[in-house]
Amino acid sequence: MNNSTTQSYDKETDYLVVGAGAMGIAFADEIFTSRPDLHMTLVDRRAKAGGHWNNAYPFVRLHQPAAFYGVNSLKLGNGSTDLSSQSELLSYYEQIIKKFEESGRVEFLTEHDYLGNGQVTDMHNRSLVTCYKINKRVVDASYMNVKVPSTHPPKFTVDQGVTLVPLNDLIHLHDKWEKFYVVGSGKTGMDAVLYLISKGVSDRNIYWICPNDAWLFNRSHLQVGTVGKEILGHVECVKNAVKADNVFLKMEKTGGILRLDKSISPKKWRCATVSPEELKLLRTVKNVIRKGRVSRITESEIQLEQGSVDYSERTLFVDCSADGLAKREAKPIFSNGNITLQSILFCQQVFSAATIAKLELASITDEKRNHLTPVPHPEFKEDWPGALSTSVENLLWLHRYIPFWMFRSRLNFMSHEPILKYFYYAAKATLLSPSIKKAVVRMKALQEA
Ligand SMILES: Cc1cc2nc3c(=O)[nH]c(=O)nc-3n(C[C@H](O)[C@H](O)[C@H](O)COP(=O)(O)OP(=O)(O)OC[C@H]3O[C@@H](n4cnc5c(N)ncnc54)[C@H](O)[C@@H]3O)c2cc1C
Repeated sequence: MNNSTTQSYDKETDYLVVGAGAMGIAFADEIFTSRPDLHMTLVDRRAKAGGHWNNAYPFVRLHQPAAFYGVNSLKLGNGSTDLSSQSELLSYYEQIIKKFEESGRVEFLTEHDYLGNGQVTDMHNRSLVTCYKINKRVVDASYMNVKVPSTHPPKFTVDQGVTLVPLNDLIHLHDKWEKFYVVGSGKTGMDAVLYLISKGVSDRNIYWICPNDAWLFNRSHLQVGTVGKEILGHVECVKNAVKADNVFLKMEKTGGILRLDKSISPKKWRCATVSPEELKLLRTVKNVIRKGRVSRITESEIQLEQGSVDYSERTLFVDCSADGLAKREAKPIFSNGNITLQSILFCQQVFSAATIAKLELASITDEKRNHLTPVPHPEFKEDWPGALSTSVENLLWLHRYIPFWMFRSRLNFMSHEPILKYFYYAAKATLLSPSIKKAVVRMKALQEA
């Protein structure tokens, strides 16, 4: 079969995985471990595995413990509280790819673009198109559409003469400028501010443009042995809540949820995670500009949605405005010949990808598999009750088909609980599930009224 207008190669594979980021690799690892008889082809536009981690800022670290990140077959870091660095993550993924390739059962095509219809092109020579016969499915592991500042320039206008850099450049610029304006209040913005503080930049010289405040997870509550209790605490709060604020305010009292400024009621919720120590440092910055999003930076002023702000010379603007994980519309996960990897447990993308692979190998129909409902990445606080309720439903449903796998999967944060607690939490979630479903409907109706 030769569909290309120029040169082409016919090849055969069982799964063609588009994207060798964290999700594509977590999926492939599960198939690789469980089914030695199957062949996979992984395709990525990047030169190396690891997806967005390749272009992240050098001082990035995991935001959640390494204990439940990566792939199921290989421990990451110390396997516990460790927050792996960029280089640790990239060498981890390299190790996995090496194992894949050495087996002869996995082909990894770097700097290749998937064109659809089983066709893959070499990005250095686009006329080289390889057409694959795919025996099982095409797996879209790019659907999350992760954006990082170094690959996604800001959407606002920057006049000539203004210096704006992605936060990646701070490592060699932090001592060359006097004042720093950090644009963006998400996790990336917080990391930029923390980095400047760690380099001795005075808080007087840090200006932080925060278009929106968000509720934040307290990292110390999301550790091995505490995360199960924490999440059940949220579930309990949803049960009695009439609006999303109730859930967050109640969880704030327990210390599990934090916010930058207690006088502001955050509108956003994106699963960003900080430690209490980091929050303390972030609060030392008093020059916080809350006037909405930036529309333009001229040589003397910053124009924002709700007004403008003058600034002085010798100012470096640090771009942290990329929407890392935007909320995307859910798609059916399994469809004829295709799988679209999405979260099925809130903000747990790699566990979700491995679970989808495990379910793919289970002897059930796609109709049944699609009982698993995608949980789009949350954006607003109102998204949280629904995301939590659907996640609980998915977890309970999965226990009917793959209970032992769920219990043993290191990517499942619950699997790190002692066995008795694991079953206690599962029983409690089963009991609470109907009432939180009702609560979500109630809250939605009130919101729309
Ligand atoms: C700064 C940051 C920190 C994070 N920290 C954590 C954390 O601590 N814990 C956690 O659980 N999650 C964290 N996340 C989210 C996390 O990384 C998820 O794992 C996320 O879903 C990214 O993985 P991915 O594979 O979906 O996307 P990506 O990393 O973007 O990988 C997708 C790949 O698909 C390729 N691709 C796209 N289209 C094509 C095509 N047509 N042909 C070929 N290749 C294609 C791209 O080149 C890319 O390499 C973080 C995210 C960010 C941005």
